[in-house]
Amino acid sequence: MADKRDYYEVLGVGRNATDDEIKKAYRTLAKKYHPDLHPGDAEAEAKFKEAGEAYEVLSDAQKRAAYDTYGFDGPQAGGGYSGGGFSGGFDVGDIFESFFGGDIFGGGRRTRNGPREGSSLEYRLTIEFEEAVFGVKKDIRVTREEVCPDCHGSGSKSSRGKQTCPDCGGRGTVTQVTNTPLGRIQSSRPCPRCGGSGSVVTDPCPSCMGSGRKRCNRTITVNIPAGIDNGERIVLRGQGEAGYNGGPDGNLYISISVKPHRFYQRDGENIRCEIPLTMTQAALGCTIDIPTLYGKVSYTVPEGTQPGTVFRLRGSGVQLPNARSRGDMFVTVKVEIPRKLTDAQKKLLKDFESGATGKEYQENKSFRDRIRDWFTEDKT
Ligand SMILES: [Zn+2]
Ligand SMILES: [Zn+2]
Repeated sequence: MADKRDYYEVLGVGRNATDDEIKKAYRTLAKKYHPDLHPGDAEAEAKFKEAGEAYEVLSDAQKRAAYDTYGFDGPQAGGGYSGGGFSGGFDVGDIFESFFGGDIFGGGRRTRNGPREGSSLEYRLTIEFEEAVFGVKKDIRVTREEVCPDCHGSGSKSSRGKQTCPDCGGRGTVTQVTNTPLGRIQSSRPCPRCGGSGSVVTDPCPSCMGSGRKRCNRTITVNIPAGIDNGERIVLRGQGEAGYNGGPDGNLYISISVKPHRFYQRDGENIRCEIPLTMTQAALGCTIDIPTLYGKVSYTVPEGTQPGTVFRLRGSGVQLPNARSRGDMFVTVKVEIPRKLTDAQKKLLKDFESGATGKEYQENKSFRDRIRDWFTEDKT
């Protein structure tokens, strides 16, 4: 799936294209690249599928909005941008069946009356660093399709419910005879009145216009467990869109983004941070307060601490879900060399340096020794 083309580019429409423009562009491409017209042509088949996938997303207001916002990584609804089922809305089949007759999709169309799982939804939630460490409850607003509360999904105003479709007698298909230059072709296509389901509502529920389903805004409280990390996902089973015909409800996936902290970095169960020491603090040693997520910890920095030294504060890290104990905190020492010294300060440092024996600087001395040895060896 590398180098996927932008869906708008695939259909050759602008980002502001209307639904009609998208539909038209798709029909044109689908006719051009239909596999029946290019048997064995893998490129045409790929183009056909690519157009189908682009259409599946851009023809669905919710998926299109998600794609516009997040691109290919966006919240996926309806089992993802599968390019597969061509479910709902306008049916690709009806373009072709009238030309070629029969069911071009071979395996028979997806049954419309059987139970189907509702679409799953994805929600991106950004939380603070500390909220991820300690856990938090958040209320989120979700718009999802639910079973219409007024007709309980029947779509019917009265208790009559769905009736057998009078146009197709409940078969879901109608037979059509077309005159073509090749002769009369008889083909069957999904019944336009009932959309192939074989039943219709004759007294639509005013609340859902007979669909039996309704978009609802819901506030859902999400319990975010302590120790969750950036990029992890929480699943709320059955909190997605309502299932069809008694099928299970979809899930709601909460993708967690954790905001960066001013000076902590998270590393799984451990926390890392840097502490700047002055040159003198590092040389003479000192006691400093290190802020941890659980309060200040007093730490004794030994004499002669080098830059890059890492101190470990056991148990000052993060308690991961299901872990027995907390991780640790790792503190890296940064030594700051003073800038903008006064003349008096410079003199102090020069006096210190001229009084140095070399033992004060282990690494510097060993480096100079090695350089000297190297030059000596070279000359032989
Ligand atoms: Zn209703
Ligand atoms: Zn019908």
